[in-house]
Amino acid sequence: MPKQIPEQILENYSKEKDKKLILEAFEFAKAAHEGQKRFSGEDYIVHPLRTALILSHLKLDAETIAAALLHDVIDDTKVSPHELEKKFGEEVALLVYGVSRLGKLRLPKQNLEVEPIEKRDEKPISLETENLRRMFFAMAEDIRVILIKLADRTHNMETLEFIPKEKQKRVALETMEIYVPLANRLGISTIKTKLENLAFPYLYPKEYQWLEDNVEKKRKEARKYIDRARENLKDNLEKEKIEVVEIKARLKSYFSLYRKLLRYNMDFDQIYDLAALRVVVKDVKTCYETLGAIHQYWRPLPGRIKDYIAFPKANAYQSLHTTVICEKGRIIEVQIRTPEMHEVAEHGICAHWAQKEGIDLVRQGKQFAWIQQLAGWQKENKDAKEFLEGLKIDFFKDRLFVFTPRGDIIDLPEGACPIDFAYGVHSAIGHHCVGAKVNKKMVPLSTPLRMGDVVEIIVDKNKTPSRDWLRFVKTGIARSHIKKQTEINLLGGLQQLRERFFKIRKAPKPAGTLPAGRQEKEAALQKSPEKTAVMVIGGKTEVAYILAKCCQPKIKDPVAVYLARIKGKASVHKKDCQNFKKLAEKWPQKILEAEWK
Ligand code: MN
Repeated sequence: MPKQIPEQILENYSKEKDKKLILEAFEFAKAAHEGQKRFSGEDYIVHPLRTALILSHLKLDAETIAAALLHDVIDDTKVSPHELEKKFGEEVALLVYGVSRLGKLRLPKQNLEVEPIEKRDEKPISLETENLRRMFFAMAEDIRVILIKLADRTHNMETLEFIPKEKQKRVALETMEIYVPLANRLGISTIKTKLENLAFPYLYPKEYQWLEDNVEKKRKEARKYIDRARENLKDNLEKEKIEVVEIKARLKSYFSLYRKLLRYNMDFDQIYDLAALRVVVKDVKTCYETLGAIHQYWRPLPGRIKDYIAFPKANAYQSLHTTVICEKGRIIEVQIRTPEMHEVAEHGICAHWAQKEGIDLVRQGKQFAWIQQLAGWQKENKDAKEFLEGLKIDFFKDRLFVFTPRGDIIDLPEGACPIDFAYGVHSAIGHHCVGAKVNKKMVPLSTPLRMGDVVEIIVDKNKTPSRDWLRFVKTGIARSHIKKQTEINLLGGLQQLRERFFKIRKAPKPAGTLPAGRQEKEAALQKSPEKTAVMVIGGKTEVAYILAKCCQPKIKDPVAVYLARIKGKASVHKKDCQNFKKLAEKWPQKILEAEWK
């Protein structure tokens, strides 16, 4: 039984009440998961413990750690959200509930194809995948829920070898398509890199094997000279009286190395950052001094000096980069940054919890373009807790994500109903929609949908849209389809009328069989064609029409018809009517030929 791990977590927290909360959550989770095992054969509690440990390294608050310890109790044990709330309070219960809700999201089945590795950069992200990412943010409601999911997924990937073979690939692909971009977006490069490298061998076994076979010697060599270069640089900076916080030597990670090799015809000699040094110094001024000192000892490659301090990357990354030629013509990359920049580079959004005081969080936060996007966050405050509140996710709050029975995600505006959903899937489904089941229950077609609903549409090929639907649909696409289709139906109805009319006319008819109105109309037609003109609309004579009030067309005026929205009536305009011209420009599909005969 892992006893010591909670202590590793606890040592990151100094307040008594934080320690108490974490310990209680641990005891509660341990009891709830009692007797359960992971696929690896370990006690289940190992998993929530590892999840919590990852988050404690990111220095997240005690509530997040408690929720991480409890994150699987709702799904895998008999504990209810209500019980959690009573024991640990609303905040922790909401986090756990959020994690369990997100756990139900799956990559759509048709997206399970693994894209060839060389195409990863080119391919546009599929709409389903993008929707799934957005849905993650929308459903999480609190950034900390996503952070717990990322840590949870990290341990699941670390133990992927133990789960059934047929599941491995799906989990790895989901990790690459959903979790890696999320970690990237939040700037947590430690988790992003880790997930990428863990998924790599499962998704691209051949490529991985090639790298294993070819890179080992190069890496060993690189390790040797980078370690030597590290010692050298340390001595030199000391001589220059530059105070160094830390110098680290590192090798490029497998996955990013492979992708870079692809771009350089698999030629290792073109990869200048296979080995890199990272120098952390106390402040910005010292960063530039360090750069100058390095360039005195090692000649820089021209065009490779990058100042991300003056020009931070979109995810707020800051550092100075240079590529230099060191001993024996070896080429290495050096990154120079302050401890704060380092924290942001490694932990992204989580760096804010670490830098509790003395840092202007507002200014820091503004550097994260995605935070502004995500939260519209503007509050002037320095308190970590309030900062967190500012991170409540409302970027997607007016969007609604629902599922098809196959698990596809349809993105709709708030308040959308099953008809919007039906048109969102396909216009034919919308046109023939006669009923809807939401979460397997029949509902009226006007029912507003809720986040995460599974919606099934019942269709009948013989049914057509009703104009009534226009009263409650929310999407423009449903609206325009319904209007168009009901107009076509109207004309189709007229076509039938016409056929019936002519059939009756042609048939030898005993007097009195025609309805009175028609007898009169026929009589008029036969009596004096030169006095009575007939309107021919779209080649038909029996279309009901009104004469437009704006231009009041007279007999023999050149005319055309606009199918008015209201009641689908044909309104006859003069061809040179200004109103008509405007309508024709806007709705060319609603214009019909017309003439007097
Ligand atoms: Mn879990």
